[in-house]
Amino acid sequence: MAGVLIPDEVIDAVRNHHDIVEVVGKYVHLTKHGKYMKGLCPFHSEKTPSFTVTPELQIFHCYGCGKGGNVIRFVEEMEGYTFPEAVRMLAEDAGIPVTWSSNVSGHSQEQDNVRNKIIEAHELAVKFYHYILNNTRQGDEAKRYLIERGLTDKLIDQFMIGFAPVDWDVLTRFLINREFDPQLLEKGGLISVKNDGDGYYDRFRSRIMFPIRDRNGKAVAFVGRIVGEGQPKYLNSPETMLFTKSRMLYNLDLARPAIKKAKQMVLFEGSMDVIKAWSAGIQTGVATLGTALTEEHCLLLKRYGDEIIICYDGDSAGQAAAYKSIPLLEQSGLKVLVALLPNGTDPDEYIKTHGGDAFRHGVVEQAVSVTKFKLIYLRKNHILSREEGRNQYIVEAVKIVAELDSSTEREIHLKELSKEFDISLDALKQDCHEFRVQHQNFKHQRDNNQFSWNNGRNEKRKTERSSTVLPAYVNAERRLLHVMMRNRDVALAVHDKLGDSFNIDNHEAIAAYLYAYYASGYEADAARFVATLEDDELERTATELLMMDGGFPFDDDIMDAWIQDILKVPKLREIEKKKEEAVRAERAGDVMMAARLLQEINSLERELKNYLQ
Ligand SMILES: [Zn+2]
Repeated sequence: MAGVLIPDEVIDAVRNHHDIVEVVGKYVHLTKHGKYMKGLCPFHSEKTPSFTVTPELQIFHCYGCGKGGNVIRFVEEMEGYTFPEAVRMLAEDAGIPVTWSSNVSGHSQEQDNVRNKIIEAHELAVKFYHYILNNTRQGDEAKRYLIERGLTDKLIDQFMIGFAPVDWDVLTRFLINREFDPQLLEKGGLISVKNDGDGYYDRFRSRIMFPIRDRNGKAVAFVGRIVGEGQPKYLNSPETMLFTKSRMLYNLDLARPAIKKAKQMVLFEGSMDVIKAWSAGIQTGVATLGTALTEEHCLLLKRYGDEIIICYDGDSAGQAAAYKSIPLLEQSGLKVLVALLPNGTDPDEYIKTHGGDAFRHGVVEQAVSVTKFKLIYLRKNHILSREEGRNQYIVEAVKIVAELDSSTEREIHLKELSKEFDISLDALKQDCHEFRVQHQNFKHQRDNNQFSWNNGRNEKRKTERSSTVLPAYVNAERRLLHVMMRNRDVALAVHDKLGDSFNIDNHEAIAAYLYAYYASGYEADAARFVATLEDDELERTATELLMMDGGFPFDDDIMDAWIQDILKVPKLREIEKKKEEAVRAERAGDVMMAARLLQEINSLERELKNYLQ
């Protein structure tokens, strides 16, 4: 994507014009530490800084979450932009003419035309439905219904709510009359092909229409709600090239400024809740669209805020969904709170009955911690009047409390349990301690397996990581790439001697990009090189390798030794495999097979020896 459609000169100009320290400094407070600048990572929550910016290389890298790249990548991550959007923003900022607009989305000209047409059709449909709701007899019932639900004319205008009449093809005719291609409208999710294949009809009929806007505020899809009772209550546009449910959130465009300011947002289940909450003065509300919360949603949310309040329906389905969302949101680094609604009500109804102030002050601002919510949730699933239910509840409750890092908080919850169920506090503390030990062991194993570390907690391990934890060939590949990215001559020598024979996929890919990069005549330039990598993960790995401690000795002999370490891995693996087979054959009494395998192992080992001389 990078550099293919946007001219290289523009990308270079953008990078040269923006000092990464200055750009990052707008978002992160940086302090100088020798060659690096350090600060608290904006992409994950941490208490000790593991986020670094290196002015010399013009790159950033976080030792905590692994994010890294050049100034363009930083803006992408920070603002939730695509690569072309980030380049455009930086270019405009620097007064560099934006002359590549037709291809700026990173798609072909033709794709762009299709996308623009689909957006244009949606924008027209929004106005059309809105007009019908406000100005025609057909819209009367829907309008009355909305007003009854507590919506004002102002809200209806602001969110451009509309009404799709009962007729089969009123939108189809409206758009085709304006020379839209019906095939394109079908592709965009606005109309459907008739069963007999002859002609088209409107996808939404007799529904209140809520436009779904993308991040830039352009309508790209609809949620249609039935008036009164009926099924399905809500109908969403199908997935299209512009509408991906797993990645889009209702109202993110309007809520973004308020979220950025408050660093906090409220997550609702539906568009109606978001709109009603808006009227109650909560302008940080977003909602998923006909799908459960995904990891991608969470990452998107984390880009704008630090804290999220889940405000789902008070019925058991809503509470179960809230419970399920917590780990996903927490994994992305968000602090999670849960707003509690009385049994069976949803935010929309609550506001209608009790008013906006009561909702804001009494529900959203009273949101409880995750632990508190889990305990309340757990209670509902146990029959506390029976001894068995009570015991189960206490065991589960202590497990939840054990997950808390703060000993004060643990003590508060345990005291409450002790008082309520008349159990000694010491016994509860003992159980809690045991759960914590089990939990730590599990976490420790997991960390070791992935060579991952947490913020600050394993501060010591990370500097030694590359030298002691990893096998020799992994270290050799990492160090070699580190030098190659900084030195063109070394890269050319490695190209001749090793080629693409790196054993780790990401390393092989980075080497391939690097060979291509130097072959195009460029000099070593870390920030420029990482811009040519077309993949987040590769960019992260490359930055991590660039940022590793370069204090190791290096000369031609060392380089050759590393190359040999790398080259012998496949042979060693083959020998290893054959040895296992030989042992199995011997156990199974297949002497012939075992002897043959041993012979093969011998010759492989000889080969390896000669090969390395
Ligand atoms: Zn980080």
